[in-house]
Amino acid sequence: ARLANQIAAGEVVERPASVVKELVENSLDAGATRIEVDIEKGGAKLIRIRDNGGGIGKDELTLALSRHATSKVSSLEDLEAILSLGFRGEALASISSVSRLVLTSRPAEQEQAWQAMAEGRDMAVQLQPASHPPGTTVEVRDLFFNTPARRRFMRTEKTEFGHIDEVLRRIALSRFEVDMILRHNGKPVRQYRAGRLPSQHDKRLAAVCGPAFVASALKFDSEHHGLRLWGWLAPPSAARNQPDLQYTYVNGRMMRDKLLNHAVRQAYGDRLPAEGHGAFVLYLELDAHEVDVNVHPAKHEVRFHQARLVHDFIYQVLHQTLAEEHG
Ligand code: ADP
Ligand code: MG
Repeated sequence: ARLANQIAAGEVVERPASVVKELVENSLDAGATRIEVDIEKGGAKLIRIRDNGGGIGKDELTLALSRHATSKVSSLEDLEAILSLGFRGEALASISSVSRLVLTSRPAEQEQAWQAMAEGRDMAVQLQPASHPPGTTVEVRDLFFNTPARRRFMRTEKTEFGHIDEVLRRIALSRFEVDMILRHNGKPVRQYRAGRLPSQHDKRLAAVCGPAFVASALKFDSEHHGLRLWGWLAPPSAARNQPDLQYTYVNGRMMRDKLLNHAVRQAYGDRLPAEGHGAFVLYLELDAHEVDVNVHPAKHEVRFHQARLVHDFIYQVLHQTLAEEHG
């Protein structure tokens, strides 16, 4: 069982940052309003994610560590209109197979918390009582300790932490209503405070993208044919002095998508330097049936059923936004 899980891990668990992404997405799926991320040594030594979400009952803990055990998809129809972030039921089992993973959880209605870990070649799950407030903590120690090739592939502590920081930035901009804290080697590095109001959005945006971006960015929010696009876009003058900053979300899920980037690039036209991509944070919302997200295990890619329509809509909204700026 361990070997099969390790093979699966190869697809999902590339580096510490991918572990953080999977675990934080699980916390979000569980309805957490507060997520704490503790990292030691760039994640090589420790990745600990603690949330105040719905928790996992004692009877489900063993299952949660097993491959293809997901509580999120119960029918094919669910799969087609998937809205929850994780859905493959592989992350915990995969991560657990290449690290020392301890899962501790308590649903609010359960008096006692329980702790689970999978050990040995057969990944037998051990359970023991624990102390924990309602919610879940996943502790991942010694990532890749048993897969030397992968361990060698890890970069410096600083580089790996940089990737984790970046993952959390992207997630922070996908859930304004969730408190997130990031610590490295015991020191608080980021604190993203929850806020639903637009004014609080700006604060969070500043915390993630820097005050300079917020000061110059143009806001947009348009709807057409069931498509909605909103967000912020740096005008070319400011974008030229901006570091790379391209955050795109499709139905709340962060995506790096060629079609989206192409549409933005086209809207900027020749106003950017040759290598420039512009600086933007954009949210595309559309009927879940209009997009396919089950394209790649790392879940970065989407396929739009009406690609042309989506592309042209994005282009038009952004083109208009930039044109108004020029007056
Ligand atoms: P998936 O997210 O694709 O369902 P995972 O391996 O990431 O698969 O998680 C397996 C299951 O464990 C989830 O379906 C969920 O039921 C449970 N789970 C994992 N993390 C949490 C969490 N932080 N809070 C509550 N339940 C969780
Ligand atoms: Mg998951």
